[in-house]
Amino acid sequence: MVYRIINGVMKMLEKIFNIKDDYDQIVIYRHINPDLDAFGSQLGLYFVLKEKTDKNIVLLGDMTSDLLKYFDAFEVGRIKVGKTLGIVVDTSNKERIDGDISLCDKVLKIDHHLIVDSYGDINIEVENASSCSEIIALMYKQAQLKISSLAAKALYLGIVGDSNRFLYSATSANTFYAAAYLLEQGITVSEIYEPLYMQNKTDLNVFKFIYNHYIQVDNIAYYYLNDKDLQNLNITREQGSSYVNTLADFAEFEVWMAITEFKEQNCYRVSLRSRHVPVNVVASHFQGGGHAFASGATLNSLTELDDLLAQLKEICHV
Ligand code: AMP
Repeated sequence: MVYRIINGVMKMLEKIFNIKDDYDQIVIYRHINPDLDAFGSQLGLYFVLKEKTDKNIVLLGDMTSDLLKYFDAFEVGRIKVGKTLGIVVDTSNKERIDGDISLCDKVLKIDHHLIVDSYGDINIEVENASSCSEIIALMYKQAQLKISSLAAKALYLGIVGDSNRFLYSATSANTFYAAAYLLEQGITVSEIYEPLYMQNKTDLNVFKFIYNHYIQVDNIAYYYLNDKDLQNLNITREQGSSYVNTLADFAEFEVWMAITEFKEQNCYRVSLRSRHVPVNVVASHFQGGGHAFASGATLNSLTELDDLLAQLKEICHV
């Protein structure tokens, strides 16, 4: 019955997002350096829009990430001439969008980061949501939409990625309502978790490296992987950052970081995490930002590291 009520994408968009104009195509964007929530929310929209419309649906952004192996197959599509709606997910500010939104007639932003730039014509910003995927899942739920297991799996991956399997403090009753709704769409949690959390000898070698080489400065701990280390460990730069929580859950560390050399861009990517100390303001001083307890930043040179550590020390001592 729900299918009969929602028999076209515009009706669905109107029902869910209050978008009334008609569009020839919908382009779905997300942020650079995508994580599971960026892909989860992007593909969670894509599979539903693709299934429920014959409109041209296009995915923008670099699609070479290793993380895509956890998702079902998709086609990125090609932009055509026509009236275009852009939907940007999980991206707090315009500069971080992986793609050009100037081609869109209208932009819908859906995000869960701290509000710094409401660049959309319509902005759905829920700062306290665990993930952007949670917001989208709850919108589908509210619209009583039956979605495919492909879409449900993508959104579930987004939620577990950003909440670290329902562990982080942004996990709320809403997170579990969203998860319950997604399970009702026919996904099997064990099938999603097994490939996601399966570890191998490469992981073991990275853990070994981190435990042997991490540096502690007061109650801040970090590891640094230069390009050679990444090659020796046989991991990508993104994977290098993804081990940041190897240093989590140690009573002595209030803030922990991963620093990885980004050789192609001649800079150093920093992933900052903390238990109680908000790190996003410090991250914003180093071309970054994000959430209070999980932010990203970029150093142009390692000489900036002392300054970063000094600023972190200051907020740790407040
Ligand atoms: P990362 O350490 O790169 O996984 O980033 C942690 C969180 O901060 C993610 O939610 C990112 O989307 C967000 N983030 C990373 N870099 C930035 C930035 N430059 N501006 C705003 N948010 C960011």
